[in-house]
Amino acid sequence: MSDSDTTEAEATAAQPLAGRRALVTGATSGIGRACAQRLAADGATVVVNHREHSADDADELVAELEAAGGRAIALVADVSDEAAVRKMFVDAAEQVGVIDLLVNNAGVEEQVELMDMSLDQWHTVIETNLTGPFLCSREAARGMVEAGVPGVIVNITSVHERIPWPGFSHYCASKGGLKLMSQTLARELATKGIRVVQVAPGAIVTPINKDVLEDEEKHAELIAQVPMARIGEAPEIAAAVSWMASDQASYVTGETLFVDGGMQLYPGVT
Ligand code: NAD
Repeated sequence: MSDSDTTEAEATAAQPLAGRRALVTGATSGIGRACAQRLAADGATVVVNHREHSADDADELVAELEAAGGRAIALVADVSDEAAVRKMFVDAAEQVGVIDLLVNNAGVEEQVELMDMSLDQWHTVIETNLTGPFLCSREAARGMVEAGVPGVIVNITSVHERIPWPGFSHYCASKGGLKLMSQTLARELATKGIRVVQVAPGAIVTPINKDVLEDEEKHAELIAQVPMARIGEAPEIAAAVSWMASDQASYVTGETLFVDGGMQLYPGVT
């Protein structure tokens, strides 16, 4: 191996996503924020998607990523709003180039049992967690195919793409649906140079489960369901997303990578 080969290999190892243009939905908190930080550190230009009320957080994150030597912009869109998603992808292409790495991360959950669930509650979860990834994946794929560039779509599902969870039927329907949508898109887009994969977090410290994490009893119950006996951290999900998006995973498509301390293996989980 020549010296120049060695230097190139070292550069790729240090920044495996150099030259890539990523868009992370719901990027101002929790797992999305960690993904934006990790993808930028790994060399990607990052579009920080956020909702209107998170504009300050998005600007602050962009400033943080740029101060660390990365390149980032913020773009507003509710992922369930078709016109807003279309505009976001047009703006992204104009400002940073065609998006070739989409992380469908934005998501919501709310505990409510079937007999008490309103149609609005059902719609909010399904539209954010399932319609959002559909709209964003469609625009991303159109952009990549039109420009003739290969790319990756990473869908953040959950251990609940597989484990039924009483009180969260809308959430489980959205994540199970997202898994099969993702796998179907993996087949549809495989010959177009686009990989579509799932990263499925277990219980992770983020604002989405603040209530459980702040309640000692519920926290202990949750940890009891995790073979590794600890809650995960958002950067541990981001590391998996970065790897799945990188060329190291070049022959991986349609696959779910569970990042859950073994939670989905545990026979006690219902
Ligand atoms: P979070 O609440 O910190 O992040 C969710 C983000 O999505 C927020 O930034 C929010 O503003 C954004 N968002 C919500 N609705 C949106 C919309 N309509 N348009 C654009 N953005 C929107 O929670 P998190 O834990 O970081 O969740 C990120 C993803 O990880 C979600 O899809 C969630 O289901 C999944 N997940 C989380 C856990 C966990 O334990 N934290 C476990 C499994 C899966």
